[in-house]
Amino acid sequence: MISNKDLFERAQKCIPGGVNSPVRAFLSVGGCPRFIKKAYGPYIWDIEENKYIDYVGSWGPAILGHSNPEVINSVIEAAKNGLSFGAPTEGETELAELIISRIPSIEQIRLVSSGTEATMTAIRLARGFTNKTKIIKFEGCYHGHSDSLLVKAGSGLLTLGQPTSSGVPTSFIKDTIVLEFNNTESVEKAFKQHGKDIACIIVEPVAGNMNLVKPKEGFLRFLRDICTQNDSLLIFDEVMTGFRVGPECAQGLFGVSPDITTLAKIIGGGLPVGAIGARKNIMEYLAPQGGVYQAGTLSGNPIAVAAGIATLRQLSKPGFYENLSKNTQLLSSELQNIGRKAGLKFSTDYIGGMFGIYFSDSVPTSFIESSNCNSELFKYFFHEMLDEGVYMAPSSFEAGFLSSTHDENVIHKTLDIAEKVFNRLKKIDM
Ligand SMILES: *Cc1c(COP(=O)(O)O)cnc(C)c1O
Repeated sequence: MISNKDLFERAQKCIPGGVNSPVRAFLSVGGCPRFIKKAYGPYIWDIEENKYIDYVGSWGPAILGHSNPEVINSVIEAAKNGLSFGAPTEGETELAELIISRIPSIEQIRLVSSGTEATMTAIRLARGFTNKTKIIKFEGCYHGHSDSLLVKAGSGLLTLGQPTSSGVPTSFIKDTIVLEFNNTESVEKAFKQHGKDIACIIVEPVAGNMNLVKPKEGFLRFLRDICTQNDSLLIFDEVMTGFRVGPECAQGLFGVSPDITTLAKIIGGGLPVGAIGARKNIMEYLAPQGGVYQAGTLSGNPIAVAAGIATLRQLSKPGFYENLSKNTQLLSSELQNIGRKAGLKFSTDYIGGMFGIYFSDSVPTSFIESSNCNSELFKYFFHEMLDEGVYMAPSSFEAGFLSSTHDENVIHKTLDIAEKVFNRLKKIDM
């Protein structure tokens, strides 16, 4: 039988690092990535036929569990009519209408093929609409890998940031101001200093790329107000939170409307789809009507759109989010109980269908606090859980995801395993 190790060695010869997206390489936890062969419901199997309870869910899209029959059928039916036409289809309009009917701040929507494309376009649109250049982003929030968004904070709050990636010239990020998440004072200062030039704030309304970090009470409302006062646009990057935390996304849950919303992940049901949505008077700035250029050969791909429609339709079943949230809460609160009972400095948090686990006394509110969690203990936890058949995200900076197929049985199984693992962890805890 082929092993994960054999395949990883083979992959590393022809794919940089053996993977097509860095976090898959297990660099921050060490060890050999699992090569996945198939996935059904809450489970994934690697090529060695090991079965795992999966809390990654393809990093969010698999909210209905893997291989949801209705989604798979829609994809098969769509494929029978051809894979791509480079011309408009009815499905694109249907997916747009579905999304618009659920998110009141969106009147029009443009489909793209990834979250990165969506945020990149959203920034360009905000700059085109406001005719201003600077953007504000928050440390620890991830908005895809386009140049101007790959910035980490400078040492002083308002000093120029440094590119997070080599290959990004400092000049490309000179208009990106990086501030601390949940810190309203720093935002006020930035507007005092640069107010006239700030095109937009882009933010993950619930941060999910520095582990799970929720906005403090009033933070999103504050961002809304300061943008309105300064004629800047507020962009909610809901690529992860969109249809993950509730039926109207994070904006519905917190009652704060952004000017522009970016979506991806769940709206593609596991296939590549991204989207930018906003009021009509903003969206009209996009080509072909407006002067802000945006395009895509495979944008609105009929197969991907079919998967998205089949997914979104099932999310509107009565009680869907209540159930998802109830199960996520069960996992989150019981994990914390068990971890603390084992004597570990351990906390958890959750919102809708996503959760965070922190080897720390308290739940972090910023990137620095998240970075201060015990990542050594996390590594042990990750590998012990994996060996016992639970696949968590291979980094302490990622949130975890449940699907509607993660029922109480699956969760109790996970908790039993976690209890064993925590008790082993206690012995190595320094
Ligand atoms: C995943 C993610 C992105 C990037 O999406 P891709 O489809 O990977 O390009 C952008 N923003 C947020 C908040 C994300 O979670």
